[in-house]
Amino acid sequence: MDFRSAEAERHYEDVVAHASGLVVGMDFDGTLAPIVEDPAAATILPGTGDLLVDLAESVSALAVITGRPARQVLALGGLEEVGVAVGQHGRVLHVLGQYGNERWSSVDRRILSPQPPRGLSTFESRLPGLLRRYDAEGAYVEDKGLAVGIHTRRLDDPRGAFDRLLDPVRGLAEELGLQVEPGRLVIEVRAPGTDKGAAVRRLVEQVGAQAFCFVGDDLGDVAAFRAVRDLREQGAVAGLLVCAGSPEERALVDLADVVVDGPDGVQEFLRRLAADTGVRAG
Ligand SMILES: [Mg+2]
Repeated sequence: MDFRSAEAERHYEDVVAHASGLVVGMDFDGTLAPIVEDPAAATILPGTGDLLVDLAESVSALAVITGRPARQVLALGGLEEVGVAVGQHGRVLHVLGQYGNERWSSVDRRILSPQPPRGLSTFESRLPGLLRRYDAEGAYVEDKGLAVGIHTRRLDDPRGAFDRLLDPVRGLAEELGLQVEPGRLVIEVRAPGTDKGAAVRRLVEQVGAQAFCFVGDDLGDVAAFRAVRDLREQGAVAGLLVCAGSPEERALVDLADVVVDGPDGVQEFLRRLAADTGVRAG
C-alpha cells in the first residue's frame, strides 16, 4: 500500500476521522474481482465479502459501483449475502450497476432499472458487419441490457484489435446518440447522461455522506475519482482516492492518493481501513 504524498496520508486520516459518515465506493472488476478472460467467470476475491461485512460495522455505507449489470455483479460477488450481513450491522450495501443506471440496495433488494436506450438495438444489429470490416469477428460481444460490451481479450492481438475498433465503434455509437466507454480491452457502448461520477454525487446526497472513499482500477472510474476530488476541494466531504494498480492501465495512478496492487492490495487496504475506523468507532 503506497501513499503517493504526505497530503494523501492526511486525506486518509481525514476519512478515518469521519468514519461514521463515510461511504466506501468500489468498482468490481479489477478492484474486488481479478480480471479473467471470460467476464462471465469473474468472481470476487475470496475473503473480500467478509472484509466488507467487517468494514460495514464502522462506516456509514458501502457501495459497489460498476459497469456490469447489477444482477450479474450481485451474483458474481455474492453481494446479496454480504448485504444481509451488512444489514445486521444496521448498515446499507448499495449496488449501482451499468454506471449508476441500475440501483439496488440491501434495504429494498430490488433492482431499479430504466428502459434500454434508443439506438442500442440498431447498434447491435450493425455491429457484426463492423467487426468483420475491422478484422475482429471473434470479439466477444456482451449484451448487458442497457449497454453492449465488445471484448477483445480473447483475440490473437487483443490490443491491436481494440485500437482498430475504437474509432469506428465510436463513430457508429455517436451516430446513434450512444456513448462509448473504453476499458481494459473492452469497449462499452451505452446510454449517455450518466457515469460513475454522477453515481457518486447522487449517493453522497442520498446518504448525507461526510466522507467518501472510492476504489477503482480503470478508465470508467476516472469520473468517480474526479467527483470525489471535486467534492473534497469544495469542502463538501473528506475524500480518498484508491487505485488498484495494474500493468494494463495507468490513467488512475496520477489521480490517486493511494496505489495498491490489484484486488489483493484492495483487500489489504480494506483490512487496514476496517481496523483504523473500528478503533475509532470502538
Ligand atoms: Mg474495473
